[in-house]
Amino acid sequence: MKHNCSFRDKKIETMSREELESLQIIKLREIVASALKTDFYKERLNSIGLSDAKDIKGFEDFRKIPFTTKDDLRNAFPYGMLSVDKKDVVRMHASSGTTGTPTVIYFSQDDLDAWTEIVARSVVCTGCSNSDVFQNMMTYGLFTGGLGVHYGAEKSGMMVIPTSSGNTMRQLKLMKDFQTTVVHATPSYLLHMFHQVEAEGFSLSDFNLKKALIGAEPHSEDTRKKIEALYGIDAYNSYGLSEMNGPGVAFECEYKDGMHVWEDGYIAEIVDRYTLNPIDEGEGELVLTNLIRHATPILRYRTRDLTEFVSGDCACGRTHRRIKRIKGRTDDMLIINGVNVFPSQIEEIIMKLPEIGNNYLIEVSKQGDLDKLTVKTEVNNQIFTDDTRDLNKLKGKIKETLKATIFINPEVSLHETGSLPVTQGKAVRVIDHRDSN
Ligand code: AMP
Ligand code: ZN
Repeated sequence: MKHNCSFRDKKIETMSREELESLQIIKLREIVASALKTDFYKERLNSIGLSDAKDIKGFEDFRKIPFTTKDDLRNAFPYGMLSVDKKDVVRMHASSGTTGTPTVIYFSQDDLDAWTEIVARSVVCTGCSNSDVFQNMMTYGLFTGGLGVHYGAEKSGMMVIPTSSGNTMRQLKLMKDFQTTVVHATPSYLLHMFHQVEAEGFSLSDFNLKKALIGAEPHSEDTRKKIEALYGIDAYNSYGLSEMNGPGVAFECEYKDGMHVWEDGYIAEIVDRYTLNPIDEGEGELVLTNLIRHATPILRYRTRDLTEFVSGDCACGRTHRRIKRIKGRTDDMLIINGVNVFPSQIEEIIMKLPEIGNNYLIEVSKQGDLDKLTVKTEVNNQIFTDDTRDLNKLKGKIKETLKATIFINPEVSLHETGSLPVTQGKAVRVIDHRDSN
């Protein structure tokens, strides 16, 4: 039998701050106990004199725990952060690392169940119910946006159409045939799809769309409004990252005034981006602790995402604190059509090729509503005197290698040695022509 939207869990969603904080400390002790079973955290926590989870008495002890970074996860690849027996792991997901090594997270069945529950709560929070038809246009695979939302959406009772990303013609046909009411996609894809509606022989009146859940990439309030106006729907911001399971970390409710961080599942801190001291007001870097995934516990994770807490109570009555939309990042990670890429990954790939010179430039721009990546690289001048077929072969080789590694199909252009701009001092390797949000 279908669930009857029980995922509006009033008791948890409207807990007082004191109740929420004591629940967090209880769950924190449990997660620290799991963390102490990993090679990585055993060493790290022992180094601050923490060898027993019972020693965590309150938030003061919690704040003594050193931050965890993406590099820590990368260095622990593949199993250094695993806290359970491999036979208890039922799923893994991965995200880009700063270089070729990805960051990997593992889930036990209990971990997946807890995540599913929190995602179900998130979609219900935007007003979805079991009468909705939900089309999930996020990639199913190592990226968490597909499978992560899938199970939560099912659990909320919606009928889920697991289309995954791409193939706009098919997306539109399914939206029409099954009268999809809710879609989950990146904002840039929804803008792109709008322009295909007529080109593919459809009209907006063929559809029954009411809502979009949008996330995975930074976007402005104007972009949300544009999506809402174009399709005549409501769009809700959804925030997550694979290190914290994926989607379902923070979600907007029907009031669209900041995203509620589910504080029974995560501890959210905002730290000053320079001193790294926790702050209650103003913008800083979001630091998150996952309280619900025991197979790969991650404590005080520096997300590199910049945001601030929304002050005051939300009109919906939920007490879980809200964060504002993500303003940017403190590192150089690029998000290109929802896919994360570090410039260092690109450098690592191209510099391995013997034909490549010393200078390169990464450009990101808009092509229509989608992002476009162009990699310009200097090559040894000899290449230009050779047969043009060799030139094209080299271009093809660079394109293919990049595509296989970063999962994005770039434009590649080859330039003579010394022809790309050289900057005084620190080299500028990345130019982002997209509007800043
Ligand atoms: P991943 O681990 O591959 O899911 O990527 C997570 C990153 O995507 C986050 O750390 C953010 O930088 C970005 N991201 C995810 N959701 C949003 C959102 N709603 N708004 C802005 N950035 C987002
Ligand atoms: Zn609310």
